[in-house]
Amino acid sequence: MTEPTPSPLQPMPEDWRRALAVVAHPDDLEYGCSAAIAAWTDAGREIAYVLATRGEAGIDTLPPAECAPLREREQRASAAVVGVREVEFLDHRDGVVEYGPALRRDIAAAIRRHRPELVITLNHRDTWGAVAWNTPDHLAVGRATLDAAADAGNRWIFPELTGQGLEPWNGVRWVAVAGSSSPTHAVDATDGLERAVRSLLEHRTYLEALTDEDPETYVRGFLQQYTAAAGERFGGRPAVAFEVFGR
Ligand SMILES: [Zn+2]
Repeated sequence: MTEPTPSPLQPMPEDWRRALAVVAHPDDLEYGCSAAIAAWTDAGREIAYVLATRGEAGIDTLPPAECAPLREREQRASAAVVGVREVEFLDHRDGVVEYGPALRRDIAAAIRRHRPELVITLNHRDTWGAVAWNTPDHLAVGRATLDAAADAGNRWIFPELTGQGLEPWNGVRWVAVAGSSSPTHAVDATDGLERAVRSLLEHRTYLEALTDEDPETYVRGFLQQYTAAAGERFGGRPAVAFEVFGR
């Protein structure tokens, strides 16, 4: 029996200037997405990062109070490698991020501050495909980001934001979900792949706690495999895949 051939991924929309990436943890964007970010900043697009937490529960050997500033520094360094200068933290608590109005409001406020046409987030679905279970923070932040793209444009859902000088922004045209098991679109990762490796390597303390393997060997192997898998549906070039929700 042969598997049906999956349909090709479509090229990502090109007619936008500003994107905002909203994820739960430091390293969420570097585990796959940052080759696409590098390609976009090369093309002169503006991209900012918003992280719901500082990833302070991510390293077993480091208590959260010591871990948070270290992971913040590593995240800012990894963003700079792919041309992203603005990195904000919403300070929800790592590991127990709750989906709900408070998270939606914080993300809607970030969308109003940055006024992006494209919003990027990470897999909001229960699994990474098959039986690889996703984490609750990714579900909460992914879903809240998909919702906040609409909340940001509504004057009345979070009226306190207008009082803070954040006028509604109804200009989000797409939300692109990285790491989805149902991707629809892709970006060529050829030119950005080397910087994606450098970008993930900036999370050095985290990587050293995660694996005994040489960090560069581990990171290069992971990203080559990740981009090659998407490339099977994108003309054989290394690629970063997204599930794109239009608005
Ligand atoms: Zn994460």
